[in-house]
Amino acid sequence: MIKTAKFGGSSLSDATQFQKVAAIVRADSDRRFVVVSAPGKRFSGDEKITDLLYRCAALASAREDFSAPFGRIRDRFLSIERDLGLEQVHIGPALDEIEAALGTGRATRDFVASRGEYLCARLMSAYLGAPMVDAADLIRFDESGKLDMMATECACALLRDMPLAVIPGFYGVMPDGSIRTFSRGGSDITGSIIARAVHASEYENWTDVDGFMMADPRIVPEARIMHAVSYTELRELSYMGASVLHEESIFPVREARIPIHVRNTNRPEAGGTWIVNEGTLMKEHRHGIVAGIAGRRGFTMITLTKDNLHKQPGFAYTLLKILDRHDITAESMPSGIDNLTVILNDTDIQGKMDQLYHEIRTELKPDTVEIASSIALIATVGHGMARTLGVAARLFTALHEAGVSSRIIDQSPKEMNLIVGVDQRDFENAVRAIYSAFCE
Ligand code: ASP
Repeated sequence: MIKTAKFGGSSLSDATQFQKVAAIVRADSDRRFVVVSAPGKRFSGDEKITDLLYRCAALASAREDFSAPFGRIRDRFLSIERDLGLEQVHIGPALDEIEAALGTGRATRDFVASRGEYLCARLMSAYLGAPMVDAADLIRFDESGKLDMMATECACALLRDMPLAVIPGFYGVMPDGSIRTFSRGGSDITGSIIARAVHASEYENWTDVDGFMMADPRIVPEARIMHAVSYTELRELSYMGASVLHEESIFPVREARIPIHVRNTNRPEAGGTWIVNEGTLMKEHRHGIVAGIAGRRGFTMITLTKDNLHKQPGFAYTLLKILDRHDITAESMPSGIDNLTVILNDTDIQGKMDQLYHEIRTELKPDTVEIASSIALIATVGHGMARTLGVAARLFTALHEAGVSSRIIDQSPKEMNLIVGVDQRDFENAVRAIYSAFCE
């Protein structure tokens, strides 16, 4: 068995966290490939190394003084080195080199940001007594900046015979040799790519929570941890606001059917959450038919009415074309015989509403246009919902009893996702009502 274990920033925020990580790695010889993030926050209000690095890069490219944020980065790494007795790593000279590169004003933003993971991996490799393999030697992007999985898999052949190796997350190399990072939180993607390239049987993603909650704990404090969730369910839930893993980290392992196991570095004894292929989800892993509930505020609904609208095939097409012109994507587009509604994200339509309204009026000539803002969408997700009688009845009874009226309903064709739109002021109430109807 081979396991790839990725540790997030909070798992590596100081020397004590390093010790916990090392104990976890040593406890299981299957954990052969250790992917690390940059040190994260030690307490609320603290700063992540990556944020500090981005700040240094911005100041340096504006030719301003970056010594204050760089000093904080230096202190953090030096204190981990000192507290763990790793002076042989010579993190000081490595920091000097980065500072010098910043000083020239020519170090790219991606290169600077990647140094958090790079230095962290150097320290972890020394602490574990295992080699570090630079992500620049493994993760390959093509000319357009997209991951080149084939080249990456070939490069990862060098890991094959290593009993233990430490790899920095978050970045890789372009064909011209320059460093490129993934988007924020991208060490999750590195972990997933490595797991796939080494044919791991499991991708462990170590973080600071016991697993995924069935609902946002700020709204439902008693929300349970999901024991297992499918890749598809997780994508639906993350899209609607649930966040623990980087969205894109699902793809490499999903294709290879490698399960992801989300675990807590501070409580390794907790069961965590398994993210698996739909076919391997078992009934006993579920507290009912619903995997979880997630929602987001900040949507606007535009409803157009026109007699016999359903017989005008170009109507929806023209509407989508108008939206496309403004770079707006429709979240959802439920329709009736004489009406069509489009749900839009407020951030997409900011400052564009007047023009949009004008174009809809002149190009589509609807009888009426109704605009409702301050809408929240709530997704109730679970494969078990499909073909289960009474799911919608249960959901709407719960909303009714909570005094919440739904403004819009949308069910995905696979019936694993039922989305309701409610007034934003009813958002929390609605989430709690749905949670108690399905998860308690
Ligand atoms: N250090 C990077 C960030 O803060 C990447 C990661 O932690 O996954 O976004």
